[in-house]
Amino acid sequence: MIAHDTRPEPVSLLFNVSQLLKSEIGQSRSYEFAGKEALDLGDGTATDIHGHSKFTLTNFDILASISAAGRLHLTCARCLEPFTTPIEVQFDEEFVPSIDIQTGLPSGVPVSDVALPISPDHTIDLGEAIRQQFLLSMDLMPVCSPGCMGLCPTCGINRNTETCLCPSQEPANPFEVLKTLIQNTEQSQ
Ligand SMILES: [Zn+2]
Ligand SMILES: [Zn+2]
Repeated sequence: MIAHDTRPEPVSLLFNVSQLLKSEIGQSRSYEFAGKEALDLGDGTATDIHGHSKFTLTNFDILASISAAGRLHLTCARCLEPFTTPIEVQFDEEFVPSIDIQTGLPSGVPVSDVALPISPDHTIDLGEAIRQQFLLSMDLMPVCSPGCMGLCPTCGINRNTETCLCPSQEPANPFEVLKTLIQNTEQSQ
C-alpha cells in the first residue's frame, strides 16, 4: 500500500518518518523532493537536486528506493575551467532507526556498513545518501568535454581557446612515455 504525501511544497531532503515507523511492516510512502541546498562533493558541488523516494518499512529498518537528478559543478581535469554537467542516479538505501519509536529507547539495531542511521528524532536525511551516490557515479577525472585539449604543458595557455607556438610535447612513440614513467618510478624508490 502506498500513501502519497500531501505536503504542498516539499523543499527539503529531510523526511520525518515517525508515522511510517509506527505503521505496519510492509507499508510504504512516496515523496517528491527538491533540495534548496547545494551538496558539497569535495572537488565540486551539486545543485538543483530533485527526484522521488519510496520508503518501505521492513522488520528492522526503512528501505528507500531513490531516483535523484541534479547538476554537478566541477573543474575540468584537463583545462582546469569550471563546468556543469547533469547527473542522474537510481539506488536503494537502508536507513536504520537509532531510537525505537515505541519505547523511546535505543533501538539496538546495528548500523551496518551499507546502512545510514535514522536520527533520534526519526528523520531521514536523503542528502547524505544522494551525496555518496553522486560521488560513486562521478568520473575521477571529469572533463568539460571529451575533446578538451587541456593546457599547454609548456606555456600553460588553455588550448581550447588559444593557440601557442610551443613545440609539440606529444611523444612520437607511446613507449617513450612508459619508459619515462618507469624511470621516474625507479628514481623515486
Ligand atoms: Zn576542459
Ligand atoms: Zn604553449
